[in-house]
Amino acid sequence: MEKIYLDNNATTKVDPLVMKKMLPFFVEKYGNPNSLHGFGTETHPAMGEALNSLYEGLNASDDSDIIVNSCGTESNNTVLKGIYFDIIHKGVKNHIITSQIEHPAIRHTCEFLESLGADVTYLPVNDDGIVTADILKEHIRKDQTALVSIMWANNETGLINPVKELAAVAHDNGALFHTDAVQAVGKVKVDVQDANVDFLTFSAHKFHGPKGVGGLYIKEGLNLTPLFHGGEQMGKKRAGTVNVAFMVGMGYALDLAVKALDFENQEVRRLRDKLEDAIMKIDDTIVIGKRSLRTPNTILVSFKGIEGEAFLWDLNWNGIAASTGSACSSEDLEADATFQAMHVDTDLSHTGVRFSLSRFTTEEEIDKAIEVIGKTVDRLRSISSTY
Ligand code: PLP
Repeated sequence: MEKIYLDNNATTKVDPLVMKKMLPFFVEKYGNPNSLHGFGTETHPAMGEALNSLYEGLNASDDSDIIVNSCGTESNNTVLKGIYFDIIHKGVKNHIITSQIEHPAIRHTCEFLESLGADVTYLPVNDDGIVTADILKEHIRKDQTALVSIMWANNETGLINPVKELAAVAHDNGALFHTDAVQAVGKVKVDVQDANVDFLTFSAHKFHGPKGVGGLYIKEGLNLTPLFHGGEQMGKKRAGTVNVAFMVGMGYALDLAVKALDFENQEVRRLRDKLEDAIMKIDDTIVIGKRSLRTPNTILVSFKGIEGEAFLWDLNWNGIAASTGSACSSEDLEADATFQAMHVDTDLSHTGVRFSLSRFTTEEEIDKAIEVIGKTVDRLRSISSTY
């Protein structure tokens, strides 16, 4: 049976072109880039090229910093803990604003900072599932809020927040602005200068690069206490030997992802809409969030009367990989918050299932998925006729 992968918000396959670009850096050009000999220095041109691709892909200015690190989680920790060390711990300000729909890499780090004495506000979303500038205005404290951290696009729903407006509100009130753009990069245009963000998190494995490498953009003139101390890599901003192959892979993956943005927003969107239209024809089904407000590849759907894990198990049995954004699972609070904020009926019979496509998803796969999803819903509803 052919397997169909519709879980691209969890991770994506490495583009074979990216893989090819990375290969020489495992067994041929394996030197430590910090070494002075030829093995070390021969890695420099490819690293420079990768860094250029990252700057160009995000439209970062030459004077800004892009730190290559291990993942999106590390970038988020670096920003939040850096703000703690640089501002909160020094008694300058004590308030951080984030939202109720953030990824655990933000939410749990904020909870940790609360345990150290930071005051954290978790913003709700509006009826559309969006963190608006007006919601932020209601909670920001002029010259007291140190940092506002709001994700660019939500991992469960794909809903896109108005990052440029949010950053403007933060700046008007003397706060710095960070966005976790892990689910936005490669799906929508991400321009750090246009959005005027101070810090931005991204992660290669969400845009057909390798797992275990990510990045943090830091606007020119800003500094963060590093999370790691040790070597002098990344301009002393992130100690630890750089994973050259992965850095090269991430740079090239971003290059390809930016070039594929039109395809993503036309062809991937067309396939996503086709799948969504078919799903919406199933009785008692709700898709979370307006299409126009979402990334082009994501659907979070709730089938009344069907328990999410049973559904996924059945889908998996039939060769389709998706994931749950359960309205009643403690592991998925960000979806839960969205469900609640959007007044979705969250009784135990409602569970969110996320389908996420990529530029490698084919029309045949979507046609097959439509057939299997319909049959699965019918089968599970006929077993449990209580809904
Ligand atoms: N932020 C968001 C919105 C994510 O979706 C993820 C991964 O699912 C992360 C952060 C964590 O990224 P990484 O897996 O690179 O640590």
